[in-house]
Amino acid sequence: MKALVYHGPGQKALEERPKPLIQASSDAIVKMVKTTICGTDLHILKGDVATCAPGRILGHEGDGVIESVGAGVTAFHSGDRVLISCISSCGKCDYCRRGMYSHCTAGGWILGNAIDGTQAE
Ligand SMILES: [Zn+2]
Ligand SMILES: [Zn+2]
Repeated sequence: MKALVYHGPGQKALEERPKPLIQASSDAIVKMVKTTICGTDLHILKGDVATCAPGRILGHEGDGVIESVGAGVTAFHSGDRVLISCISSCGKCDYCRRGMYSHCTAGGWILGNAIDGTQAE
């Protein structure tokens, strides 16, 4: 798959990367239908986001169709059309229960920042 990889301030490359696999029971693999870049990606590329390390696959905006889910995912199934949020939330921590998903203790903005983001075929 093609991935936009951050290699440090001002450096990026479109590279071939393996198709992602389910790693945790709460994971989902989504086949991208539409995507776009975000102003935040531009800040990463400028070097403004210290939490995004060189080598990271960028991309945290899009919609698609679920291909597979981990054993712990019960609310979504293969074939569901979903919107991908840049914010991951567990739904269980104090912050999530108060609707403050960006402060989730197990998530927040991690996609395309602390973990690899979107790829395309
Ligand atoms: Zn964004
Ligand atoms: Zn949470």
